[in-house]
Amino acid sequence: MSTVLCPGSFDPITVGHFDIITRARDLFGSVLVGVGRNNQKNYLFGDQRIDLVEESLRDMEGVTVSPIEGLLVDFCQERGITTVVKGLRFGADFDFELQMAHMNRGLTGLETVLLPAAAEHVTLSSTILREVMKLGGDVTPYVPPAVVRAIEARRG
Ligand code: ADP
Repeated sequence: MSTVLCPGSFDPITVGHFDIITRARDLFGSVLVGVGRNNQKNYLFGDQRIDLVEESLRDMEGVTVSPIEGLLVDFCQERGITTVVKGLRFGADFDFELQMAHMNRGLTGLETVLLPAAAEHVTLSSTILREVMKLGGDVTPYVPPAVVRAIEARRG
């Protein structure tokens, strides 16, 4: 058994992320979910993203959560993690992930495993959900219950 990293912005976590994390855990035994904290990014859910990921994955054995700041390869090296697992939806994901994978491998030898998104989640993205949410749409089918509760609390 080895621990792999599933990194992302998770703004917010979706059922698509949940599926990739579950499958990575089933394949490798143990997953650390890394929630990116990038000062340049204007997150809709801010630091609440980390709480929402933790709450959504609380009952899942073999999964832990941590914020990530700085370079992904440094974060992994400090923790003895040698593999990153990412979800692959469509062409644009592939183009970006291929560049990132080669850069990370070049920097420290960090390997990347790309898992194809489940057919039912292949078009789902946090970006689109944020737009729908901002305009008052119902995203309940696409996010874990913790996120639904957070959205309801915001709307008051
Ligand atoms: P997004 O791209 O939706 O804003 P993130 O930056 O949090 O989300 O993405 C983190 C990782 O999760 C990436 O590898 C991305 O490809 C993957 N991912 C995002 N949405 C899905 C989905 N619906 N199915 C599978 N993987 C996904």
